Amino acid sequence: MNPKVLAEVSQDRLRRDLFHLCRDPFSFRTVLYTRPWQSKNSLDETDEFIAAEMRRYSSLVEMVPNRVQAFRCNSAKPLHHWYDKPQPEDPWYDAHNIEVTLPGSGSSGEIIQLISHKDSMSWINSPGAHDNAVGTVANLELVRLLSALPRQRTVRVLFCNEEHTPWHSASAANAARERGDNIIAVLNQDSLDGKSDADFAAKRKTHYAIYSTPEGQALAELLPRTAQRYQLPLEVFCAPKKCINDDDGSFIKAGYQRTIMNLGSYPYSDEQYHLPGDIPERVDLDNLRLSTQLLLAAVLDLDERGESIFSA
Ligand SMILES: [Zn+2]
Repeated sequence: MNPKVLAEVSQDRLRRDLFHLCRDPFSFRTVLYTRPWQSKNSLDETDEFIAAEMRRYSSLVEMVPNRVQAFRCNSAKPLHHWYDKPQPEDPWYDAHNIEVTLPGSGSSGEIIQLISHKDSMSWINSPGAHDNAVGTVANLELVRLLSALPRQRTVRVLFCNEEHTPWHSASAANAARERGDNIIAVLNQDSLDGKSDADFAAKRKTHYAIYSTPEGQALAELLPRTAQRYQLPLEVFCAPKKCINDDDGSFIKAGYQRTIMNLGSYPYSDEQYHLPGDIPERVDLDNLRLSTQLLLAAVLDLDERGESIFSA
């Protein structure tokens, strides 16, 4: 991979998309919030924005319809965990997964799968900047750049909903399994750069790749090597997850074992996690750019070398 492509990751575009999703015009991305004078809820508006942007880079942008409920809010539960399951009488809403495909030129049929949940919390009013506008804007930027670069393998990106229920990353993963998709790696971007106020004040640039399977561990361990290889000034750590969960867990449960989640700290230490204070002004854009560059390098190296990269 030519390291020069990493300089094409645009911090300006990351910032622009982040503030678009979390501040102006959208503050929230949930079925429960509709902006004044709008007829569509803010999650549908978010989907329109993402799909329109992605259609500039791929002719294969699919809106997959599904149904969700909002979580109830229960502030008697521990701070950061106020979501509670909906009751049977609570309404259902039409929602969508967005799946973007960037076909590769080779004949291997191998797919590199990227994921990010695009919605914000449905039980509380929070812009969800770290959780998970950052992963969404990183994947938008990865599509822009990957669409213009020669690749052997297909890259597919899933923008799903995880702050509503049920999680339709599971239906996307099961559909991939039923089609027999040959997914060689799954990278879920959820809460990149999210870290403690102390780490933010100390200007630490951190990236955690966490895994639930031995195959995931091999993929996670690729990331610190990649950072070193391309001299990215980022502290990259690998750690095992406590359980198989989140949108990466959906793919593991569907049989795709080489799967990781990328985030800014683990255990997750953002003091504003799942609170109204998860605002875009708290995002360390340098860290977000570096994490996006790391992911771009990892995807391109995976594309270039395929599964042989794990036997090195
Ligand atoms: Zn969350």
